[in-house]
Amino acid sequence: MADYRKVVKEFNCMIGNKTNIIDIQCDSSYNNAINSGVGKTPFQPATQRTHILVDDTTPEKVINITKKNKVCMLGKMHASDDEAKLCQCTANISLQTNIGDEYTFCKEGLLHLKKTDNLEVRNITDPDTASYRASLDLRREGITETVPVNHIDTRHLAQNHRKFIKGQSKLLDLMPGRTKKLREKMQNNFALDLTNISLQTNIGDEYTFCKEGLLHLKKTDNLEVRNITDPDTASYRASLDLKREGITETVPVNH
Ligand SMILES: [Zn+2]
Repeated sequence: MADYRKVVKEFNCMIGNKTNIIDIQCDSSYNNAINSGVGKTPFQPATQRTHILVDDTTPEKVINITKKNKVCMLGKMHASDDEAKLCQCTANISLQTNIGDEYTFCKEGLLHLKKTDNLEVRNITDPDTASYRASLDLRREGITETVPVNHIDTRHLAQNHRKFIKGQSKLLDLMPGRTKKLREKMQNNFALDLTNISLQTNIGDEYTFCKEGLLHLKKTDNLEVRNITDPDTASYRASLDLKREGITETVPVNH
């Protein structure tokens, strides 16, 4: 990732921009959906969180990852974040810490960019995220000098796209259907389909993307995976298939 950050700076230099001003997109992923426990448990179902900052000026480069983990391999219940840090496990937040706190974790990532490579963010994800607020606050606190501007992400873009197509009154006349109601329904469906075709790829394809990552590990450093996440994930299937295809030699076992 440090290398990627250098590439981004070089790229900025080549196109005549300030080298340390970058455009990013960011979001988090959890091992369990953060709201999947509603009504079932008072605890947060997610125990691991990854907040990823992706550079947006060069083709998709991950420039920073902030990892938060509550699972202690030694089976301890960490009551405070300091305690988690002292323990020889990979947990770095306590049971009580709000793992859904995007603001804090994104700020941590942005601060890291600033400290290591003096990078400041100009374009950042959509305005309703805590990540955007974090970047704004860094500017307010005088840590960064660049005023961040927010993107409109694909979800918002899709919404606008759909509304625009729905709002075309001439298009309604072109739609097949005997009654106005039927034609409106057709137009709605048409708007949905068109938006889906133009904006959506299957970003949820964990199998393919995990396989890509595992193949990268194998190719670059001949690394093979033994213990991997739980059996109902596509990631586990990807690691199994790599063994079946003869690319790796280690039989993966699931957590
Ligand atoms: Zn521990």
